[in-house]
Amino acid sequence: MKNSVTFGGITVASGEKVSQYVTVTGTDYKFPITIINGKEDGKTFLATAGIHGCEYPGIQAMVEMAKEIDPADVSGVVILMHCINISGFEERQTYVVPDDPERKNLNRLFPGNADGTLADKICAFLSEEFVAKSDFHVDIHSGDMVEKLDPCIIVCAPKESENNAFAGEAAKHTSFKYRLNSGGRTEFYNSSSIDRNVPSLLFERGAHGDWSKEEVDADKSDLINIMKYLKVLPGEAALNETQIFVKRHEWAEAEATGLLYMLVDAGDDVKEGQKLAEICDMFGNVINEVYAKFDGHVLIIASTLAIKKGDDLITYGQS
Ligand SMILES: [Zn+2]
Repeated sequence: MKNSVTFGGITVASGEKVSQYVTVTGTDYKFPITIINGKEDGKTFLATAGIHGCEYPGIQAMVEMAKEIDPADVSGVVILMHCINISGFEERQTYVVPDDPERKNLNRLFPGNADGTLADKICAFLSEEFVAKSDFHVDIHSGDMVEKLDPCIIVCAPKESENNAFAGEAAKHTSFKYRLNSGGRTEFYNSSSIDRNVPSLLFERGAHGDWSKEEVDADKSDLINIMKYLKVLPGEAALNETQIFVKRHEWAEAEATGLLYMLVDAGDDVKEGQKLAEICDMFGNVINEVYAKFDGHVLIIASTLAIKKGDDLITYGQS
């Protein structure tokens, strides 16, 4: 029998599962997690949901998996964060942490700052107490309230490395139709790889503040396949033979504030030079036009009438 493990001040004996709220160091902010310590040695797998509090399929997947995974099946440790931005979840606030005095977006703050505001402290706590002690990290997102998307899996691979290649291989064992490499921003999964040298992936599935049993089940089965690939759970993870690698992509931000008229949908194919969107001022005058830089497939679009300069506008890629 192996030793107990401790993460974020919570100690779990070998063969045990603990579900409770964890308190962020230096604050009274608490969010729900489950730690499952298997009896056999193995890797530590970290799955996180609810960095954005209205991205529901991953949150529901965590709640269900926390009940369903039997410690007797686990080799190593499984950590499930049910909903990190519980403040945003309860207040139904897109992206930001309402309890933070500056209403910051956690996914722009990693690896965090223990001397910053609440949101900075949450990020530092996650990075130091959990990611640094993990072997693999999956952060689960969706299109929140404001985006539509074609499901895709993103590998943190800003450059070639053994860890990034390993994350890419794990991603090939999920049901996602589209896989792309990204990295270099201060997002949670990117920080895990860049700042902590932990291979990491991001799921994008579901949108519009909605969720379905199909999306939840797909998130769960993809996480289980990754855990099988890591030998944390028993069984073979099947290779997805038809997954498409998006070798080049454009992640465009809005260049103006105003009314957004998106001219394409998530899942559409677009041609180089095709107009993708217009932004108008509040009097209906066109102030910005966005054109496709290359032939590609639209993965994510902003779907709100309102848009602010710097907001994510559209992501399209070429395979
Ligand atoms: Zn998100």
